[in-house]
Amino acid sequence: MHLKEVKGLLSPTNGMNISRGCIHGCIYCDARSKCYDMRHDFEDVEIKTNAPALLEDALKRKRKKCMVGTGAMSDPYIPIPENLANIRACLEIIERHGCGLAIQTKSNLILRDLELLIKINEKSKCVVETTLTTYDEALCKIIEPNVCTTKARFEMLKTMRDNDIKTIVWISPLLPFINDTAENLRGLLQYCVEAKVYGIINFGIGLTLREGDREYYYQKLDEHFPGLKQRYQQKYGNSYQLMSDNNAALMHEFYTVCDKYDIVYGPEKLFGYMRTYDKHEAIQFDLFGAY
Ligand code: SF4
Repeated sequence: MHLKEVKGLLSPTNGMNISRGCIHGCIYCDARSKCYDMRHDFEDVEIKTNAPALLEDALKRKRKKCMVGTGAMSDPYIPIPENLANIRACLEIIERHGCGLAIQTKSNLILRDLELLIKINEKSKCVVETTLTTYDEALCKIIEPNVCTTKARFEMLKTMRDNDIKTIVWISPLLPFINDTAENLRGLLQYCVEAKVYGIINFGIGLTLREGDREYYYQKLDEHFPGLKQRYQQKYGNSYQLMSDNNAALMHEFYTVCDKYDIVYGPEKLFGYMRTYDKHEAIQFDLFGAY
């Protein structure tokens, strides 16, 4: 880990990452890709020491309250004390300014800040996102080794449900020849139904790989699934999108379950929901089918 003062934090669409890099170790992590131009080892997490001060300053200057998004490129609950202190400070600032929050994490450490999330949700709106890729706990420890397993994330989702905080699950990626099965998808959807999630983001059954994360992914395939790298190379070459042969059948099942249980699934609709500040506006947005 290393500390760094940065120049800016909030993007034009009010997204922020309070750190760069991650130690959760997901074997398919896109944030490792070379295109992001990280100038340090991915595991040598860069903590933005002045993130709370920059956020305070940015929110003070806003004319309108907004949703703040975090967690897209690095997990806000990486278990490093300086990082955990920073995310709590940022949540306090968001709450104090009456802004909304859309926060994405794979870690149930977020429960530590539950009281703050409840307060944000009472004042404006809080949406918690997590990723579920495998129903199989043993497989989860291989493909997402340093963060809590799917079952713990499911428990976290239920806690949010019980506190009226809306949740969105990313079912992505499902890895060809590993967990792109009907059995796995059904298990994950069952968790989503039980946790009464608001929406599921799913771009199709498969994964994306590009320079930087492809090498890491293949190295992990060699370690844990001997022979599978060669199968991938034969089938997909250097493609960016690696679609599963089971995509059509599994997506059909996905849509059927979502429709049956009123789970929202259009990614644009869900991104729109997370960007919409006011709870009332959000409801109208749905009613008029803006997306
Ligand atoms: S939690 Fe997210 S950022 Fe961290 S390794 Fe996993 S996919 Fe990458």
